Amino acid sequence: MADTPLMKQYRQIKQEYPDKILFFRLGDFYEMFDEDAVEVSALLNLTLTHKGDSPMCGIPYHAVRNYLKRLLDAGKKIAICEQMSLSDSPKALARREVVRIVTPATVVEEDFLAETDSSYILSVFQGYCAFCEVSTGEFRLRILGSENRIASLRAIIEQIRPKEMLVCEDEYFLDTDFKEAVDLSPAMITKLAPWYFSLKTGYKILCEQVGVASLASFGLNEKDKVIGPAGALIRYIRETSKSSVNQISDYKLDIESSYVSIDESSRKNLELFRNLYDGTVSNTLFETINRCKTNSGTRLLKSFLNFPLHDKALIEARQKWVKYFHENNSELERVRSCISGSRDLNRLMTRIILKRAVPRDLTGIKQSIGTFFSIISEDPSRFSELFDSSLRDNSNLEKAFSLMQEIDRAVNEDFLGQFNAGEVIKDGYDTLLDEKRKLMESGNSVLSEYLDKEKEKSGLTILKLGYNRVYGYYLEIPKGQVSKAPQYFIRIQTLVNGERYTTEELKGYERQISEASSQAEERERELYNNLIAEAASISSTLNDMGSFMSLLDVYQGLATLAIDSDYVCPEITDEDVLVIQGGRHPVVEKHLGPGKFVSNDLDMSVRFCLITGPNMAGKSTYLRQNALIILLAHIGSFVPARSARIGLTDRIFCRVGAMDNLARGESTFLVDMQETSYILRNCTDRSFVIVDEVGRGTSTQDGMSLAYAIMKNLISKRAKTLFATHYHELTMMDMSGIRLLTPAVDNSGKNVVFLRKMIEGAASSSYGIHVARLAGVPYQVIREAQSFQNRHFADYGINGKQGNLFSSQDDDLNTSEESEYLTPKAADIIKELQECNPEELTPMQALILLSKLKEEAQ
Ligand code: ADP
Ligand code: MG
Repeated sequence: MADTPLMKQYRQIKQEYPDKILFFRLGDFYEMFDEDAVEVSALLNLTLTHKGDSPMCGIPYHAVRNYLKRLLDAGKKIAICEQMSLSDSPKALARREVVRIVTPATVVEEDFLAETDSSYILSVFQGYCAFCEVSTGEFRLRILGSENRIASLRAIIEQIRPKEMLVCEDEYFLDTDFKEAVDLSPAMITKLAPWYFSLKTGYKILCEQVGVASLASFGLNEKDKVIGPAGALIRYIRETSKSSVNQISDYKLDIESSYVSIDESSRKNLELFRNLYDGTVSNTLFETINRCKTNSGTRLLKSFLNFPLHDKALIEARQKWVKYFHENNSELERVRSCISGSRDLNRLMTRIILKRAVPRDLTGIKQSIGTFFSIISEDPSRFSELFDSSLRDNSNLEKAFSLMQEIDRAVNEDFLGQFNAGEVIKDGYDTLLDEKRKLMESGNSVLSEYLDKEKEKSGLTILKLGYNRVYGYYLEIPKGQVSKAPQYFIRIQTLVNGERYTTEELKGYERQISEASSQAEERERELYNNLIAEAASISSTLNDMGSFMSLLDVYQGLATLAIDSDYVCPEITDEDVLVIQGGRHPVVEKHLGPGKFVSNDLDMSVRFCLITGPNMAGKSTYLRQNALIILLAHIGSFVPARSARIGLTDRIFCRVGAMDNLARGESTFLVDMQETSYILRNCTDRSFVIVDEVGRGTSTQDGMSLAYAIMKNLISKRAKTLFATHYHELTMMDMSGIRLLTPAVDNSGKNVVFLRKMIEGAASSSYGIHVARLAGVPYQVIREAQSFQNRHFADYGINGKQGNLFSSQDDDLNTSEESEYLTPKAADIIKELQECNPEELTPMQALILLSKLKEEAQ
């Protein structure tokens, strides 16, 4: 069957968007046809119907957001095709056009964005990348590490967690390592043709976007390869939003060396945003330190943590403000309570600029401006150092202030939906609008007067006035009285039990009313659009206000944290030192509760510390706490310690545990070695390295030999290293340039007590057998292990003590009574026997007890 004109139009448009779901607007519905219909009806559980031979399904246009969200979540892109003009004659087709393409990272509407997460789109090409947050206009360019492009790519993916990625199809299909790294990300991947990444067009697009002739002021020239992915990114964002994306008005060139670099696995291992246990935010550094009051502040804090600074002056500039709030308690309280009134101004402004705002966005802008002024009200110059240039100009502030008043007068705060005539602009704001509204309303009383008049004139007792969309206003006479209808009644509709009429006079009123209502709507829309335009016209001021308040929120949050968790301001220095006194692990400390955590010092004047000690004694905690303190110091935060002197650190490496990386399909040991080799290749004398239990997952001889060699290599690299190992034998090797640390253990009593204090020296034993005993391993096994150890490892000597890995306490194990090392169950039985009093038992009770004990013993 030949296509109808409508289907022809559909197919023509669909052809341009083969890889997207096409939402085709037909009246009050978005319809989908053919494969789209089949796929979407299955995904969204919609009824599949047919139009001619084509499968079809549809969704009501007013409910579109909900469906869009679900399709995005299912990894789909959606092209939205609207009716651009209604046809004059009912036979002609309406013109239709795709007005935007909805993709996971280019949406800006509130419903689609996670409030406290940035939503990045990352574009990568040949070792260069650019990323953008469309909802705020943040745009950054970055050169990936030349040494190891793939590792750098993985790091940046972990750092910004993009929702979407743009890659060049050639690179993607030809470079398997690249493809693998890209595919690992949960982001939606879009493969673009190579010409998207052309330098020449890229340069042109980038200039055009921000309205300059040269990019020199951004530190870029025509030959910079980073232009390639950046150009592709802007082009893609424009193509999807089908509008000029004016919220992007600035580029930030990220030089990798201006940040502390932390590779992908170190980021994961440090549990900054997601724990290793279940991938949620609980027990992470971020959760522990976040005291922000606003969503945009929360996102900025995440960005602080993701991009720790490598510049003393910049860090100190941040510290200054944390200190300011830390020292001025009442000011902290004041700002803290003010700031929660601010809305997400940068995201609001993006919607304003893209013309996708809804009325409540104006209210949000009003509130945020109000918050800004109440923050600076006490002393307008107090924070001026944190102002971008636009905020230093008083005339800009005045404009913002009058916009706030204007919105306050104009916009009905209680209305939450999309623009709807009669609900957005308040009465009393505009005389013209009020007039039109009055006309509409007076129309109603005019009509009821008219009805009374007609009743009287015609003598019809049951005359009704009604309205419907097809015929407009009508007078209705029930069947029995139809004969009494006056001559001038014009019949327009016949019903089962009556007739409907109009009159010339009624038509006149109707015209007046509908004119007034459409004029009122037009006027209301005009006023609304004026406000939007006014906001857009001072967008840079409002954006700067938003950024200022986010920053202030982070500072007040860090100060609040420092106060409630007893952190101190670290001294940042260019000197090559690292001294921490009374350091604590921020997360473990919080978990344990106040006063429970045992603090520990760190002094890296000897650059390599070898840490041995029993399991569960606190080695890993110590390693991580120092890495976290260094990281916190580099974001400008206070740190959990009594005092800290921290030399600028270029990289933090964190190799912890033998975490299975099943997703990558590599064996644990292989991953272990890959990550270790990455550290060895990339660390410098200004790096901080923690290595925890390297060499697990292979034979003892292999593992120990590797651990030894790795240790030697790290020493020669002069990286400041904390190296924890369960290979106690390493402490018996050549100890030059090595400091030995071990967690203090009290084993004077019957049980081992971990004191959680790091002391000089090596662990005298692995305590493994002790721990096994504590865990209730049966006595026979403990005994067997002990004797095996004595037979086979008798020639190890530690700390000058020959013959036994165990301390004197453990020697007792051989000779002590068996009862001392009973399993918990056996101990329970004995306890029960000790406690019972045979004289007091009846024979029956004694019998029951006896058989119970026998059962337990078995
Ligand atoms: P290891 O690496 O030596 O096996 P961990 O560092 O994993 O030991 O510590 C085990 C547990 O001991 C931690 O989960 C924590 O509850 C507790 N712990 C560690 N260090 C301390 C400390 N300094 N103060 C108090 N408790 C600690
Ligand atoms: Mg450990």
